[in-house]
Amino acid sequence: MKKFLDKNFLLQTETARNLFHEFAEVMPIFDYHCHLPVKDLADDVCYDNIGQVWLIGDHYKWRLMRSNGITEKFCTGDATDYEKFEKWAETIPMAIRNPLYHWTHLELQRYFNIDTILNPKTCKEVYDQCSALLQSPDFSARNLLLKMNVNLICTTDDPVDSLKYHKKIKDDGYKVKVLPTFRPDKAMAVESSRPYTKYISNLSEISGIEIKNFSSLIEALEVRYQYFHDNGCRVADHGILTFWAETYISEEIEKISTKVLSGIELSGSEISKFKSAFLYECAKLNYKYNWVQQFHIGAFRNNNSGMFNKLGPDIGCDSIGDYSYGDKMVNFLNSLDQSGELTKTIFYNINPRDNELIASIIGSFQDSSFPGKLQLGPSWWFMDQIEGITKQINTISNLGLLGRFIGMTTDSRSFLSYPRHEYFRRILCNLIGSEVENGDLPADMDLLGKIVENICYNNSVDYFKIF
Ligand SMILES: [Zn+2]
Repeated sequence: MKKFLDKNFLLQTETARNLFHEFAEVMPIFDYHCHLPVKDLADDVCYDNIGQVWLIGDHYKWRLMRSNGITEKFCTGDATDYEKFEKWAETIPMAIRNPLYHWTHLELQRYFNIDTILNPKTCKEVYDQCSALLQSPDFSARNLLLKMNVNLICTTDDPVDSLKYHKKIKDDGYKVKVLPTFRPDKAMAVESSRPYTKYISNLSEISGIEIKNFSSLIEALEVRYQYFHDNGCRVADHGILTFWAETYISEEIEKISTKVLSGIELSGSEISKFKSAFLYECAKLNYKYNWVQQFHIGAFRNNNSGMFNKLGPDIGCDSIGDYSYGDKMVNFLNSLDQSGELTKTIFYNINPRDNELIASIIGSFQDSSFPGKLQLGPSWWFMDQIEGITKQINTISNLGLLGRFIGMTTDSRSFLSYPRHEYFRRILCNLIGSEVENGDLPADMDLLGKIVENICYNNSVDYFKIF
């Protein structure tokens, strides 16, 4: 019997072990999409305890704790950090085969050198050991990234953000590049006029452009594109339910904008026309600034209205969505391709049934401007486990070029999430290694090692052109 989580964890063959230890393991991390709190990096904070890092803001863990019958007090409520951690330690033995079981123990090993299995009996010992280490300067937010060999992160930021924390981190000469990502979701959230007009007045103020209609909205947005670009941003991100690709004429979009800005609620068809125009204009700006654009498509958000009313968004009550958007995606890409304004693009779908749909549409718009110009993004959120990662890698292999894949990103809010790259790399090496041993792939370690290194790091460096 193999030991749990030993150095050959998930690596079932000799070739898989060689690929991982000789090629994948040593590559640095290029984390092109995450949600790390940039203020914590700017202040280079030390966390008081492991409960704080693991359980404040981690909706993955809250979902499992609720599934284990634990009351809200210990998830998002006012219990102490230790009490919350105790409830997590009660939950984790129930979570065998869930990715969080692996992530939890990988994080204990990689950051804290702790091999202990977390459960109610070991809870206090693990909490005390981790917390003592976290309080030392060696475990500050910046040092946590350095420990994991991270070279770059792209955080997720609103166009109105001053980027003062990004600037401070750069001015301090921190070794890891910490760049912003332009995510203008709030500027297209016209489905509710009150918060929308409030947001637009902030955007007007910070851009110095009075936003009265659609054209001035795009003008203001472009001021912020330039500002983000000047501060190192090379990536946009759009969280969308579907590809908004209605036909419209510009006069009607101006009218719709004026209407919502004057506080009047829009009809369903006005909302989708506005979003179609907005997304298209952003895509053109993404091309103009030569940025990579990302689309996170199709989640159901805030499913539980009782919980939403009590606690707000992002508390673990979202799910895989159930939309049909292939035809709209084709229209959207085709319009951009026709006008020569389709920039490098990554699509993250949340419903695994859509993997092949997206990968095959992508294949229709690849061109000679860059190898792997359009990417099926790595497994995300509800698909970020062995099975989801395997399916995603298989889809790329079956319908595109695995050798051009830009690999993993954490999409995480926690400084302790970086072993997720290792998890991905082990799964990748195991898949390739098993096929070599079965005679399905040539045992050409120069070729395969290079491909593994490229997927782990080099492809994303080439793709984002930041270094
Ligand atoms: Zn994200």
